[in-house]
Amino acid sequence: MLSQYHIEIMLASLGGRFSARAMSAIIQANLDQDRLAGQFGHDEFHFDNNAFEKTYNYIEEQRALVGSSLMLGDANSAWKAFGRFLHSAQDFYAHSNYITLWRDRFNGQTPPPPPEVDPVDPNLIDSPDLRSGKTYYPFELLYFIKRLRPYILPLLPRDSHAWMNLDSPEQGYKFDYAMHAAIKRTVIEFEKTTEGFSGETCRLFLDR
Ligand SMILES: [Zn+2]
Repeated sequence: MLSQYHIEIMLASLGGRFSARAMSAIIQANLDQDRLAGQFGHDEFHFDNNAFEKTYNYIEEQRALVGSSLMLGDANSAWKAFGRFLHSAQDFYAHSNYITLWRDRFNGQTPPPPPEVDPVDPNLIDSPDLRSGKTYYPFELLYFIKRLRPYILPLLPRDSHAWMNLDSPEQGYKFDYAMHAAIKRTVIEFEKTTEGFSGETCRLFLDR
């Protein structure tokens, strides 16, 4: 997703829970995953190239780092690890066909509106039909230059990131579903991460 939408998701889901400086560190770490160095060889940052298992392992590794950093009293490292894995969790809805599969479940009928999307339908999370966009270099890179898109898209297969992504509203009506799913998923990840935290650990993490 484009940075502005990651920020919107973070504020809509977690705004008000953390202090301003904690929120700012978490959002910065989230956005840093999209730096150029994070775009190559890091499918686990963005759920790209069907790297589902690798990404789930990355999320749990970073979640564990949140806990171990807080044990050491290092809230800043905890915020960064939290921001990093939330980026992956949010990109899941923009880079996989989850939203398409969810809407297809209402075969024939009009699917419910975006706020009603279920972000963690177990039948879909484990579905053999679940896919995420593949990055075909070098054409995938040129896709990011808007002016070149009309020339680049016909050269890329339909299973590419370029064709499949829901990174911005330009991609059509499914983008809204991806946003709502990412907001709900972020709350779920927050609850999963903080469940079992003592009052003191919670205060350190939320910085309140
Ligand atoms: Zn990303």
